[in-house]
Amino acid sequence: MIYLDNAATTKMSETAIKAMFSAVNEVYGNPSSLHSVGQKAAEALQNARETIAGLIGAKPNEITFTSGGSEADNQAIISAARLGEKKGKKHIISTAFEHHAVLHTLNRLEKQGFEITLLDVGEKGLITADQVEKAIRPDTCLVTVMYANNEIGTIQPIAEIGAVCREKGVTFHTDAVQAAGHIKLNVTEQNIDMLSISAHKFHGPKGVGVLYAKRGIALTNLIDGGAQERGKRAGTEDVPAIIGMAAAFKEACENIENDSLKVRALRDRLISGISKIPHSILNGDPTQRLDGNVNFCFEGIEGESLLLLLDDKGICASSGSACTSGSLDPSHVLLAIGRVHDIAHGSLRLSLSAENTEEEIDYTIKAVREVVEYLRSISPIWRDLVSGKKEFVIKEA
Ligand SMILES: *Cc1c(COP(=O)(O)O)cnc(C)c1O
Repeated sequence: MIYLDNAATTKMSETAIKAMFSAVNEVYGNPSSLHSVGQKAAEALQNARETIAGLIGAKPNEITFTSGGSEADNQAIISAARLGEKKGKKHIISTAFEHHAVLHTLNRLEKQGFEITLLDVGEKGLITADQVEKAIRPDTCLVTVMYANNEIGTIQPIAEIGAVCREKGVTFHTDAVQAAGHIKLNVTEQNIDMLSISAHKFHGPKGVGVLYAKRGIALTNLIDGGAQERGKRAGTEDVPAIIGMAAAFKEACENIENDSLKVRALRDRLISGISKIPHSILNGDPTQRLDGNVNFCFEGIEGESLLLLLDDKGICASSGSACTSGSLDPSHVLLAIGRVHDIAHGSLRLSLSAENTEEEIDYTIKAVREVVEYLRSISPIWRDLVSGKKEFVIKEA
């Protein structure tokens, strides 16, 4: 199989597997136990914490281990909201195309009386620090903007947004799940107060992630229980998974430059090949995007059929996000950048990793062309478009 769904999840790296498996065997103690087997686990946990903190420019005690990106997003936003509420500040700024872990948390807060401003991301899927600055009010308690979008790959000007928030005294959170391990992060230099990471997006294990919260930001517990994670996240830590995550993150960060060059070249080859398909359009900005992200809409096509036929040809791809697939609603991300329903339905996301090869990319270009051509040949909508009965939405350049 040709795996082009790395934005949904990645295959664990050999390094991460080795680190995690040796930990399963050797570091089985409970880090909260006082005996030596427990203390050995506590030490391994601390090492992982230091490794991860060092890689993002944070201090070890600013790192909280979570069950992944969703939990980290929930905890960051709820914590900032509770802190704001105490000061009578109940306004939050975000964007219309965040991950559902952010948007659904914001919906919940809205029902509790918070006011949410969702910034327009425009046709390219980008916002500016200026937009954020204009939206900040005296009662704003949080700005939460994703680092890189999981569907269309656009990268936001995080350091600038952080600078604006810092100047205005507003807490700034970024969902960096798609960025971590792929783009260099530094919470200090980039003025980030809170940041979410998930291991399975950078060749680490699933079900484990990190919430970074700058010193002084009191986190709200989502899970009550023991005093793990400085009392902010109860439950015995999954030490082997955390060790696997630290190993994967270290490896990914060390390889960022090499992998980036390689993956970007594959991405541009793929984009250039697919662009040749008539009445197709690239979603997101052509340059301000993740190295591994390719996302297209094709007129007259159903995303679902496209995926099934590509799967038959040995290609794993995605339409919208993993969470949207299976429902009939088109992707909220594509709607946010102004794609109409019909067009948003015909989308294809191909997300690459450094393991992909040029041969795989060339095969994929050929396969996508064949499948799109076949689906159009049996589509009544396409027939109407070609005969002029209906007007094309995606015009030819
Ligand atoms: C995958 C993803 C998440 C969710 O992370 P999990 O670890 O799967 O809970 C959140 N935000 C973004 C941008 C993602 O891509």
